[in-house]
Amino acid sequence: MSATIIDGKALAARVRAQVAEGARAFAERAGRPPGLATVLVGADPASAVYVGGKQRACTEVGMAPLDRRLPADATFAQVAELLGALNAAEEVDGVLLQLPVPAHLDGPELTALIDPAKDVDGLTPVNAGLLALGRPGLRPCTPVGVMELLASVEGREPGWLEGAEAVVVGRSNLFGKPAAQLLLAANATVTVCHSRTRELAGVCARADVLIAALGRARAIGREHVKPGAVVIDVGVNRLTPEEAGNKSGLVGDVDFAAVAPVAGAITPVPGGVGPMTIAELLRNTLTAARRRAGIE
Ligand code: NAP
Repeated sequence: MSATIIDGKALAARVRAQVAEGARAFAERAGRPPGLATVLVGADPASAVYVGGKQRACTEVGMAPLDRRLPADATFAQVAELLGALNAAEEVDGVLLQLPVPAHLDGPELTALIDPAKDVDGLTPVNAGLLALGRPGLRPCTPVGVMELLASVEGREPGWLEGAEAVVVGRSNLFGKPAAQLLLAANATVTVCHSRTRELAGVCARADVLIAALGRARAIGREHVKPGAVVIDVGVNRLTPEEAGNKSGLVGDVDFAAVAPVAGAITPVPGGVGPMTIAELLRNTLTAARRRAGIE
């Protein structure tokens, strides 16, 4: 048996095409395209690459990107002032603070200042609360992207997650907790693991759906996976040139070579969850724009 590869790139391209269509229709009715503002504090190279990717993706679907940058020594008050100005700007529908922010700033506290109606990352306390209560709101992009990937798995009936054993490894506010909430909403039986979990491999091996988001290169191996399980690899880890040898230096949290022969379906890294995150960010921006303009 060898796993079906879940093609995140292809699914993300379909989502982007839908969003581009929606953005065109929005611009016709509203007289302007949906607008997404990104805020980058400091010059962390990885963060700059992520922000650049989001800006490009925005342009590609016909949205208006706004790229705002502050120096690494910006004060809390300066970042707060910029976020306030973006909250107030009529043509801005989505506001995204790129994390992590420099160590002297409090990322969650700054994120909480974003207008929940423009919170396209879905990370403000209001949107996190709405998700926990099962009420409509803007949802975090990566967990929503994972749900879309699960819905796309070949040969599974719609609603296949109902009653399934889902194990999420990682309990961050960014991914693990919202992913668990979304899986619960899909009626899966959900277990959330973390660094203090005992017998991690044993717990994971019960899963029909195993989602790895622990930030440890290739930590999930053959022994963690029940034969036939659907495995979603959220991890993005950059290997050193020595570790990578002559291969791409990007690996997930799952040991793909060991797990693919036993899993039923698996996402690759790159080309799995990553492309879906940006596609869902664009979708959230369109949703926010429509709601703000009263166009559903
Ligand atoms: P995080 O905030 O560092 O959280 C990691 C979680 O994993 C924590 O809950 C931690 O437990 C748990 N953990 C760490 N080591 C563990 C171990 N040995 N066994 C079991 N649990 C362990 O990370 P994150 O922001 O959620 O991101 C996780 C990974 O996903 C990273 O590789 C990140 O780069 C990637 N990511 C990718 C995308 C994408 O678009 N592809 C988006 C977001 C994140 P404790 O809570 O006990 O410390």
